[in-house]
Amino acid sequence: MGHRIYNFAAGPAMLPEPVLEQLQAELRDCRGSGMSAMELPHRGALFKQIAVEAESDLRALLAVPDDYAVLFLHGGASSHFAAIPMNLAAGRSVAYVNGGYWSTKAIAAARAYAHVDIAADAAASDYRDIVPAAEWNVPADAVYVHYTANETIGGVEQPDTPAVEDVPLVSDMTSTLLSRPLEVGRYGLIYAGAQKNIGPAGLTVVIVRRDLLGEPMPATPPTFDYRRQDEAHSILNTPPTWAWYVAGLVFKWIAAEGGLAAMEAAARRKSALLYGAIDASDFYINRIAPRARSLTNVPFQLAEPALETEFLLAAADAGLKHLEGHRSVGGLRASFYNAMPEAGVAALVDFMRDFEQRHG
Ligand SMILES: *Cc1c(COP(=O)(O)O)cnc(C)c1O
Repeated sequence: MGHRIYNFAAGPAMLPEPVLEQLQAELRDCRGSGMSAMELPHRGALFKQIAVEAESDLRALLAVPDDYAVLFLHGGASSHFAAIPMNLAAGRSVAYVNGGYWSTKAIAAARAYAHVDIAADAAASDYRDIVPAAEWNVPADAVYVHYTANETIGGVEQPDTPAVEDVPLVSDMTSTLLSRPLEVGRYGLIYAGAQKNIGPAGLTVVIVRRDLLGEPMPATPPTFDYRRQDEAHSILNTPPTWAWYVAGLVFKWIAAEGGLAAMEAAARRKSALLYGAIDASDFYINRIAPRARSLTNVPFQLAEPALETEFLLAAADAGLKHLEGHRSVGGLRASFYNAMPEAGVAALVDFMRDFEQRHG
């Protein structure tokens, strides 16, 4: 048996240990079929059962209202940066909040399909703080207003659902969905690439209020046509069957652990431990405005940046891996979604104290 490390990567991220064990146990024979879940025909009875179960488990976790479609699609969050304006905006005006790296990508993609107004931009804080919703300037004719709930690279998070009336909220929740309870009914559309907090890469979850789905733009590929995919139960073509299956096991694991309230409580304990250690020391620095600090992605620097390489090497030796910051910003970053055990963050904090003692 191989060993396991604590993987602090922003994504693909750790999966829950019990899920991995179940996958291993049934890799060659899923539910008595004599086939791996990877080998199941996507239109067969067993995959259908798996697909329906995963959707209803996700609906239960998030208490998704009945007038919302829950779609299991291809493409990653990045493809849906384009698919969302294709489906919802069709050449009309949309509003975007620029909160950092991923917002910028979403805005650039949307400009190809719709007129984009910038409702708010966190540039004044160098993207180290949020712009509170009260300061957003959303034009009344916007079809929707889009924001990135958690900027995974910057480590900046909108802590609550922004209070926006009249214009539907659209949110990239790739790195925060399932980290806490959520009032889905306050959103027009929520989407998330799976590889952070849901399951394997290759799957993208889209939750959308059905009355927002009009005629998509003419050139929209059918596989990215949300209305057609809703009618086809997300099986217009071969869906990412394995990722869908694994996501279903993750939903059951979350429910067994106590649901989203339990996920939030654990995330708060883990982040309090790490931010507490950083704030208690002059050796480590986190520059994010306290009200906007991410619950799951913590960028930090060493007061002595020359020690970074040694820090990363020594951490890896201790089984604490992928603590390097995103290539666009450098520095260090610890990401710890639902599947990261609290013991992993505790081990990181112990390591940081020890490293500081040796070098501080
Ligand atoms: C990781 C990430 C993305 C990119 O996701 P892909 O599935 O790789 O396209 C987009 N938005 C946020 C907030 C992310 O964390």
